[in-house]
Amino acid sequence: MVRESPLAGPQGFPEVDRVTFRSPRFPNVFVIGDTVNPALMLPPAGVVAHFQGEYVAGVIASDLKGAYIGEPFSPVAMCIMDFGDNALLPQCSFERVLSGTGMPSCGVMAVGKWVRVTKMLFEGFWFATLIE
Ligand SMILES: Cc1cc2nc3c(=O)[nH]c(=O)nc-3n(C[C@H](O)[C@H](O)[C@H](O)COP(=O)(O)OP(=O)(O)OC[C@H]3O[C@@H](n4cnc5c(N)ncnc54)[C@H](O)[C@@H]3O)c2cc1C
Repeated sequence: MVRESPLAGPQGFPEVDRVTFRSPRFPNVFVIGDTVNPALMLPPAGVVAHFQGEYVAGVIASDLKGAYIGEPFSPVAMCIMDFGDNALLPQCSFERVLSGTGMPSCGVMAVGKWVRVTKMLFEGFWFATLIE
């Protein structure tokens, strides 16, 4: 569907500004998430789509207020990975990937049972917000 839309570039992916995710042809259109990330060499991951959503929402709100200052997106991704009773919290910065200057920079922020417990607590908290 995107490939056949006027948003698509020669590769079939939507063409966007790498800093703002704004379509150069349609400035009131932004494209984020799995639809565009492979073309930007960003991972097709929920955490990236989530942060892009927050960022673009801020850009749109700033545009409407006439206060947009051009702050670039910070392409950082992290997730808690379970293994048994333990868990690992890796974090990667895709700054160099987005600017076309290199590879992602990754590190392990934390590892241990408490990381697993933190994830379980967060899950419980998040699901509780769905119940009214
Ligand atoms: C099994 C699995 C496990 C994953 N685990 C993780 C993880 O642990 N951590 C992580 O960060 N990411 C994970 N991901 C990746 C993550 O789910 C995606 O990167 C993320 O959902 C992308 O968000 P999105 O909004 O770009 O697209 P989507 O979440 O795919 O949303 C697109 C939406 O558009 C709708 N849609 C499609 N076509 C149309 C149409 N024509 N009209 C109207 N609506 C339409 C779809 O129904 C869908 O709701 C996982 C993915 C899979 C499949």
